[in-house]
Amino acid sequence: MKCTQSIALHKEAEQHIVGGVNSPSRAYKGVGGGTPIYMERGEGPYFYDVDGNRYIDYLAAYGPIVTGHAHPHITKAIQNQAKKGVLFGTPTAQENTFAKMLKQAIPSLEKVRFVNSGTEAVMTTIRVARAYTNREKIIKFAGCYHGHSDIVLVQAGSGPSTLGNPDSAGVTKGTANEVITVPFNDLANFKEALRLWGDQIAAVLVEPIVGNFGIVEPDDGFLQAVNELAHANDSLVIYDEVITAFRFMYGSAQQLYNIEPDLTALGKVIGGGLPIGAYGGRVDIMEQVAPLGPAYQAGTMAGNPLSMASGIACLEVLQENGIYEELDRLGEKLADGISRAANQHGIEITINRLKGALTVYFTNKTVRNFADAQATDSEKFGQFFHLMLEQGINLAPSKYEAWFLTITHTDKEIDETLVAVERAFAKM
Ligand code: PMP
Repeated sequence: MKCTQSIALHKEAEQHIVGGVNSPSRAYKGVGGGTPIYMERGEGPYFYDVDGNRYIDYLAAYGPIVTGHAHPHITKAIQNQAKKGVLFGTPTAQENTFAKMLKQAIPSLEKVRFVNSGTEAVMTTIRVARAYTNREKIIKFAGCYHGHSDIVLVQAGSGPSTLGNPDSAGVTKGTANEVITVPFNDLANFKEALRLWGDQIAAVLVEPIVGNFGIVEPDDGFLQAVNELAHANDSLVIYDEVITAFRFMYGSAQQLYNIEPDLTALGKVIGGGLPIGAYGGRVDIMEQVAPLGPAYQAGTMAGNPLSMASGIACLEVLQENGIYEELDRLGEKLADGISRAANQHGIEITINRLKGALTVYFTNKTVRNFADAQATDSEKFGQFFHLMLEQGINLAPSKYEAWFLTITHTDKEIDETLVAVERAFAKM
């Protein structure tokens, strides 16, 4: 596969854009290096790069593109809105339409507010929870990514009795002291954190299905116990559904597990590919937000007409019957095929899959938390990634990410992918 144009563009990018990329995950650091491929065009499940190569896409832009690239219904909605103007700085009717659609899908969103990214959505839920509870600390789960606001760029110490260390330069020790990180799926550690810091915990921040150290589902009863223990402690529960909302089912993770948080952060899929975030929850909590309450949050681009049009159109597509069942069927077929190929070639893998999203870990152990995911073989993943890319299969360049199917993937793309997997494993 020839990638001369990508290589040239990346050399140029490195002169002008820090690290040559506008988000670090796009660099190929996690896969042993290489030049990121510069895409020119997407159509359904396919990408076409600047050298004219075609790829089957499983990145789906890290989640948002659940309807496939350039979906006609969404494209038309964006075009129609663009002709009428893209930004007004005034309320528009579409904001009401979209807010009602979100509330109908996720009933715990009694009141919502639109923002521009998942980062903003999560950051604001934390501020609102602090305003409501008059407490300052949060508990989060190790390895879960919640955007790049200071407070969530904090990793675990060695256990619940240590406060976090900043994961990023520029995050203060003071901020890190506001976060307690415990392992996912570990109730004993969670209880211990509450025992030690309980009266200071404003909220527990939960990715109800982990998407950021691969796909990891909560153990049976884990989410229920977290809710009960947090509420008994007068702490709020915030669900970060930035990845999970509208990805696994229309009603999001909350409906899948039949459980409700106090606040929810949304992003990714709800924008149909345009920049968006949203947060919402219980009305008495949301009334902390300006102009009604003392917690400030604002945005020039918030609720912008283009993102509203795109998001509404995306949810309209996802309301069609059978969408999630088909994602599940194809996801199962893909996972089964990968497992078979691995068996055949003596490659040790563990696949975590939920419907149309899966992660292939190079390990023979189960993966239930971040430490398990960290212990999987990075070198093998890097090798596999490059062997797949050379065959026109575009995966996320990190062992911690998921393969995301879109509603435009069909048996044809899965079959083609499985041939590539077989060849990759044979070479490994
Ligand atoms: N929360 C989760 C669970 C995410 O996966 C992400 C992005 N990967 C974010 C928050 C941040 O969203 P954004 O990149 O839109 O700021």
